Parts: sequence; C-alpha cells; structure tokens
Amino acid sequence: MHDDRKLVEGRLKRVLDERIRPAVHPESVPLDVAVWHAPGEPVPVAEGLSATPEPIAAGDRWGAPWGTSWFTVTGTVPPEWAGRTVEAILDLGFDRNMPGFQCEGLVYRPDGTPVKGLHPLNDWVRIGAPVEGGEEVRLHIEAASNPVILDYHPFLPTPLGDKETAGTQPQYTLARMDLAVFDETVWQLVMDLEVLGELMAELPVEGARRWEIMRAVERALDAVDLQDVNGTAAAARECLAGVLATPAAPSAHRVSAVGHAHIDSAWLWPLRETVRKVARTTSNMTALLESEPSFVFAMSQAQQWAWVKEHRPEVWAKVVKAVAAGRFVPAGGMWVESDTNMPGSEAMARQFVHGKRFFLDEFGIENDEVWLPDTFGFAAGLPQIIKAAGSRWLLTQKISWSQTNTFPHHTFLWEGIDGTRIFTHFPPVDTYNCSMKGSEIAHAARNFKDKDLARHSLAPTGWGDGGGGATREMVAKAARMRDLEGSAVVTWETPAEFFTKAEAEHPRPAVWVGELYLELHRATLTSQARTKQGNRRSEHLLREAELWSATAAVRAGHPYPYERLDRLWKTVLLHQFHDILPGSSIAWVHREAEKTYAAVAGELNAIIDAAQRALAGDAGAGTRLLFNSAPHTRDGVPAGGAQAPVMAGGTTAGPREGGGHVLDNGLLRVEVDGRGLVVSVHDIAAGREAVAPGQAANLLQLHPDFPNMWDAWDVDAFYRNTGTDLVEADEVAPGEEPGTVRVTRSFGRSKVTQVLGLRPGARRLDIDTEVDWHETEKFLKLAFPLDVRAERYASETQYGHAYRATHTNTSWEAAKFEACNHRFVHLEEPGWGIALVNDSTYGHDVTRTVRDLDGGTTTTVRASLLRAPRFPDPETDQGVHRFRHALVPGATVGDAVREGYVVNLPARHLPGDAEVAPLVTLDNDAVVVTAVKLADDESGDVVVRFHEAHGGRAAATLTAGFPVSQVTVTDLLERPLTEAPREGGVTWREDGTVALRLRPFELVTLRLRR
Ligand SMILES: [Zn+2]
Repeated sequence: MHDDRKLVEGRLKRVLDERIRPAVHPESVPLDVAVWHAPGEPVPVAEGLSATPEPIAAGDRWGAPWGTSWFTVTGTVPPEWAGRTVEAILDLGFDRNMPGFQCEGLVYRPDGTPVKGLHPLNDWVRIGAPVEGGEEVRLHIEAASNPVILDYHPFLPTPLGDKETAGTQPQYTLARMDLAVFDETVWQLVMDLEVLGELMAELPVEGARRWEIMRAVERALDAVDLQDVNGTAAAARECLAGVLATPAAPSAHRVSAVGHAHIDSAWLWPLRETVRKVARTTSNMTALLESEPSFVFAMSQAQQWAWVKEHRPEVWAKVVKAVAAGRFVPAGGMWVESDTNMPGSEAMARQFVHGKRFFLDEFGIENDEVWLPDTFGFAAGLPQIIKAAGSRWLLTQKISWSQTNTFPHHTFLWEGIDGTRIFTHFPPVDTYNCSMKGSEIAHAARNFKDKDLARHSLAPTGWGDGGGGATREMVAKAARMRDLEGSAVVTWETPAEFFTKAEAEHPRPAVWVGELYLELHRATLTSQARTKQGNRRSEHLLREAELWSATAAVRAGHPYPYERLDRLWKTVLLHQFHDILPGSSIAWVHREAEKTYAAVAGELNAIIDAAQRALAGDAGAGTRLLFNSAPHTRDGVPAGGAQAPVMAGGTTAGPREGGGHVLDNGLLRVEVDGRGLVVSVHDIAAGREAVAPGQAANLLQLHPDFPNMWDAWDVDAFYRNTGTDLVEADEVAPGEEPGTVRVTRSFGRSKVTQVLGLRPGARRLDIDTEVDWHETEKFLKLAFPLDVRAERYASETQYGHAYRATHTNTSWEAAKFEACNHRFVHLEEPGWGIALVNDSTYGHDVTRTVRDLDGGTTTTVRASLLRAPRFPDPETDQGVHRFRHALVPGATVGDAVREGYVVNLPARHLPGDAEVAPLVTLDNDAVVVTAVKLADDESGDVVVRFHEAHGGRAAATLTAGFPVSQVTVTDLLERPLTEAPREGGVTWREDGTVALRLRPFELVTLRLRR
C-alpha cells in the first residue's frame, strides 16, 4: 500500500471548503433590509420593533461601537421553492475566525416573540420545512455592534473599551442577507465528512481503522459530482455509512457532553450587554432543544437567569418550559461564577446562598455541583463552604492553563483547610468551549489522567461569550460519536448525571490538599485597586449592617431591612465575578463598578447609622459610644456591643539620633529614619527587634511590569529581576495626629504620602499610604524585611488561613511567586511571630535570604499595591489610591486575625447614653463570629455563624443576649442540617447557653429562635 494520506486529506479539505459546504444553501434570493440605529443605549424591544427604518444593503457599513441597530428584513419565498426547506441567512458582517466577541443579534417576529440569536457561526433562521412557496417573510433583528477588543491585535491598548472613548466609526460591514434553500442531505454529508476526517487525523497510523476511514472518505469524494453536489450527496453518504456504523470499543472513554455557553457576566463588554448576550444565547438554546431531542443545555450563574426573567420575559417563558422538561438545567448553584481567591468568608458563602436559593425558589431545583470552569484558582477555604451550602461536587478546567506544572489528576478529592473533601473534576478536554471537533474529543480521551480507574469525563460544549451556545452542527457530530469505533463515546448529559457516574466508578480517588493555585493570572490580585477596595469595604459594611440591624431589631423593634440587604448583597456578589473583582475587564466595567460600590457604601452606611441610632439612647446626654463591629473586645467594648470606650496609655514622639523620628507607646518603639524608612520596630516586652539588621521596612519598591501577554491578568516572574527602591523622601515630619510621622515622596510622575502611627495601647504600627499614581506598566510593592526564620507563612482565606512555603525548593513552590491573602499574612518562629495586616490589598509575596552579616534569615513580606497595565483598560489604576497596612510584631495567628478585623472595621462613635449588650457572646477568642443577622425567611430568628480561626481545637460557650426557645444547627441556607451535627460539637445547655467544641477551622451556623 502506498501512503497517500496527504493527498486524500488535502482533497477532503478542498472539496469540503469549496464545493460541498457552499452547496448546503444552493439557491438564494436577497432580502430587503432596512435599519434604525438607536441613539445611545439599548431601547426596549417594543420601541425597536416600531421604529421607522431606513434602507441599507449588503456591503454597507453599520454599527458605531456599543451601538444598537434594529434591522428589518422582508421578502417573499419564491413559489418554485415549494416543498423545500428554506432558511434566512443573516450575516451581520461576522468574522468566522472568532465564534463570539463581536457583533451579535437577536431575531424577533413582528409580534415581539424571540426566534433565535445570530452569531458568527450560527447565522441562520428556519423559515419553513417544507415551505409552500409565496410566503411573506418579515423579521426584526436587534443587533449589537460590540467592538472587537481582543483578537486582531491582542493586548494592544485600545480606546474601544469604554463608550466614552470609543468614537463613532462603524465597526461592521453588512454581509449576506438572503432567503436560501437548505439542502439537508448535503448538510448531513458535511457532518459525516467532518466527523470522519477529524477522527481519522487522530487515529494511529499503525492501526487499520485510520486507513479504512480514509478509503471510505475517498470513495465518497469519488461519488460527489462537483458540478452537481446536491444531486450526488446521497450517494456519497452511502459510501460512508459502513465506517460510521462500526461501534466503539468497550473500553472507549466516555464523554458527557453538557451543552453550555460560558458567558462572562462582564468582561470585554459592560454589565448591560451581558443581559442581552444571555437573552440571545438562551433564545438559541431553547430553539435548539425544541429541534434536537437528545440535546441538554446547562446554564450557571443565577444572576444571568435573574436578568432574563427581569429584562426578557418572552425569553424567560421559553426557559421555564425547557427547565420543566428537564433539559435546560440550572448549574453551579452560585450567584455568579465568582473569583474564589479574594471574596471574604461571608461573601463566598453568600454566593452559594443566593445562587442556590434562586434555583430553589424558581424551580425547586437544588444544585449539587459547583460550576466554575474559568475561575482563576481556588482558595483552600472553599471545600468547607461548598459542603456547608449542601453541595458535593466541583468542576473547573482552568488549572489546565497553569504555565509551569501539570496537575496530576482530572478526577480527585480536593481537601480544604478544615479537612472537608470535595469530589472534583477537571474536564480533560481542556476547554469550556468544546465544539465537538474530533481533535477535542480525542484530546479528552488521551489527556484523561485517571484512566487506570475511571472512564468518564465532562465536556462543556458550545460557544460562549456571544457565540450563542451549542450549534446544530455540534449536536449532529455528537450523534455520530455516540458509538463510533476509534472515538470516545459521546452522550449529552447534565452535570449531575456526569458526577453521579464519575463518583460511582471511582470510589477511591487521589487527594489534593490545599489551594488549587493557578500558575497564571497572578496580577488579578492587584489590578484595578479601586474595584478591589470597593469589594473589601462592601463586605465589611455588610457585616456591620446585618449585625446592627439585627441588634436593633431584637433590642429596639427596629425594622430589619431584608429587601435592601438582599439587593445589596446581590450587587456585591455580582461584582465578584471572575473578570470584575480580578480587574480584567474593560474600563467601562471598572468605571461603573467604582460608582456602584460608592452607592452601596452610601446605602449601607445609612442602614448602619439608622440601626445604631435606634440603639444609642439619648444623643444629647453628652456621652459618646463606641459600636464594636469586630468579633473581639475593642477598647473595653465587647464584640457586637456598644458602650463608652476605655482608652489606654499614650504615645510619645521625638527626634531620632542621626535624623528621623522615634515613636514609643510602651509596647513598641519604632524608629523612622531621615528617609522615612522604618529601620527599627522593637517589641519592648519580648525584647526583640522585628526589622532585619541593616535593612529597612516600609520600603516602596517599583518594578517594570510588562508581561508577555494578558496585561491586566499576568505578572511574569522576570518582573523581579529589576526594580528601584524608593528611598528619596521629599519630607519626613511629625504628622498632624500626635504619635505619627508623615513621609512624602515623589517618583516618576507620581507622589506618595504616608502616615506612620503608633496608637496608644496598640501593638501595631499603622501605615496609611496615599498614592497619586501616574505610571505605566509598573508594579509598586511595599516591603517589610523581617528578622524571622520561617519555613512557611499563613495567609488568611475564607474561614481560616492556609500555609505556603517561604522557599522555592520545587517548581510548585517557585510558581507561587505572587499569592492571595485576605486581611493578614503571618509568620513565626516558636514563641514569636509577626503579621502584616491590610484593609484592601490581596496580592503579596514572601521571600527569604540568609544574611552574610550574622547568618540570620531575613523573611521579606511585600504587599502588592498598584499596577498599571494598559490592556484591556489603557488607563488602569491612574489617579489617587489609599491603602492601610499595619505591622503587628509579637503577633500570634490569633492576634493577626484580631488586628485584621480592626483595620478593616474603623471605629464608629455615636452620641448616646445606652449600653448595648451583644446579641451573642463567645468566651473564646479563637471562635470568631463572621455573621449575626436575622434569618432570611423573615421569621425573626437570629442567625449566627462562627468558625474556629486559629487552626486548633476550641471549646467555647455561646451566650445569647435574649431569651432563646430553640437552637438549630443549619447549613448556609439556614436550613436545619439533615445530617446530625457531630456529637458534642454543639450542645444546648439547660441554662440557655450553647457549649461548642470545634475542630480546626470548623464552620458552624446556628439559628436561634426567639
Ligand atoms: Zn470567564
């Protein structure tokens, strides 16, 4: 046999491209097209349908960036087409090299009912099958001229990312707008040839199957008359029937195809456009479900469902019907597909509360799986939250994007900080936009790492982000791969069907302990600092609003703002979406996010203020109360209570020998030198110096930061090769407040003002930093070289902390050169530790050196303050920023927890004479309350959530400050746990108190009936 593969493969490609695919629509007539360009933002459907359009034709330019154009197409089906299948081909000017990320449309009938979406690889609308001939056709298209931000020139700065800077240049050229005959037989031949051609290319040359398929393909091509494809397609298909009918091997890999469209809730488009993207895609998918009985579609992100319900009721009606049929499936059980590194404990929990509750309320459906295909890494606190929400499984494929290390499993148990294990699957197809290409299915089977014990994997299938989801072609190809020799077996299934099978076949999966760190996109912990700050402030304001509203409701009958808190939570949760909080969206998104966070803060402050005033008593009494929102006693005021604070001690400030200033509050003695650098932090009681000898802390370091790609997302390791220490000060002077030093510096086009202060009675050096930032492609770090030898350090995560190595022994450790913390990082030698706490920064790095000077070890903790990438927002982070950090020498991890809360919850003082007792009191600082609120069911029950925060065992007594008739242990959704709580874990005593015995990091939710 001669090896003529190249010849046959080349022939297949050319004949498919140039002859067979064009014959799918062999005859066509142009439609008349008219257009009305909506001035400005999108208009309601009725307004678009009733507008008066002007004529436009194929070849005309249309579509200012972010504009909306309503096209009206009209025509008559030629009478001679009677009995044939007819479609409208509506090509808005699509670039077929990209499945989404460009213009899109939603087709309506004149009565306003949606038909389907129009997308680059899905531009047809069925008119009739068969037609009678002579039918009048009239369709309306709501077309969005969203500009292409990423693709043609990836990562080059562009003004197109905000309608305020995008200009008015038309973005698209109207292409084919025709009525056409659809030849089903030719289309089926295309599907046959694509499936076999793609499978053939994946099969081993040594095996017979590849050659059998090749000869069948050759015979089919021989059977096609290139001058009469439509007349000979059936004969060509007959040549392929045999090779398509050979069944799959019994050991073939099983792919559960889940119809899907990954729609980023905002990214290279604003939030308002996502509302329409979802409407277009859901219209497509309900239409596809109607015509394809085997197909199943899953959609995640309750927020996106809520948008369809609110904004497109006509689409929603179809969705509800498809859900009832069990084929349009809610997935994931979260409000959005959020980031999981940065959301705080309660926010991460509420993603599940609000997501799961939406699907329960609307459909009575509870999700067992967590669906996060695209999230940039997974915090070690997450498994416990998934379980506490009543979910069991996790899906993501993102870790396959890691640049350095290959993850060793696709199906495994993921163990979090408290020991909770979650059955987790990484689809080996390595994409969330599977298109049923033979190469993808073959890759999934080959790549699957657990094939020794398991056979099933999941493939999220369909074009996302404006691609419209799955296509009829994907369904046709999946049907051919249902039982095909040489291919994996493909079946449409729901996520739950997949997980049930995967779990059953794999009883003892491998275990991965700790975070699922993504070795990429590390700069998402820092980019768009104001968005991150908005998130952190909102999370703490929500804590305060719930705490004081609940306290005021119980103590003073103050109305609890259920509806407002529900809405505000959902707003904050939406902004934790995996391209908003990470800072990887266009300028428009972040500009709006900052405004939204300001409005959220305004509303929450008003709620807090009203509740506190209801509690404070006589405002004219001449006394002031401190409301302590933190989980630990503060200035003598108990956690969750309010009374006059007890202020301790004082701070002295004086000149330092050799220049600079010395601050001393009896606990710490801090030396700031003439450059404004902290050269000594002396822990007086311990007799120990925190700053490494010969080095200086509070050192700002500026690095060039131009990653190889993904500017807002990535910082590449080489950024550390060069950098500048900002040691020149403009001025170092006593600050306005006593016991503070003010430092100003200028660098580049930017300016920094810092206030360093020692508060009386606090074992904490406070550092307030204001940066007027006007750099480009730079990374600003705040460094603390510490005289501590530690193999590992702790970073706060949800409901606890996780450890990372300070060394780089292995490639896994070296790859974590930028990592996430919540309110603190902490490191220690036996008997003495130190923490760096912050009010809004997440990125940090910790490195070590051994000193020649004395053989001691310097461990340097650096907080990441600001970056200045130019894509996708060319003006990222320009302007004024404020950060608050504090160095806490002599800190245990418990001190780090406490001080982390202190810097994030500034004291609130109010005039009043009442002493407000806390609603709940815990007698052990290791047990930290994260939420006190009234139950969401409006029963008036008090819900309190707490966890063991030190990483050890804790016994504690919880005392309610009100009569309690019943204590129930619940899940995050405030439902009684069906599983009995661990014996002795939570015991309600006769005296009304609750005895607690908690495991390390254990999370508990109690519902206290009044
Ligand atoms: Zn995404």
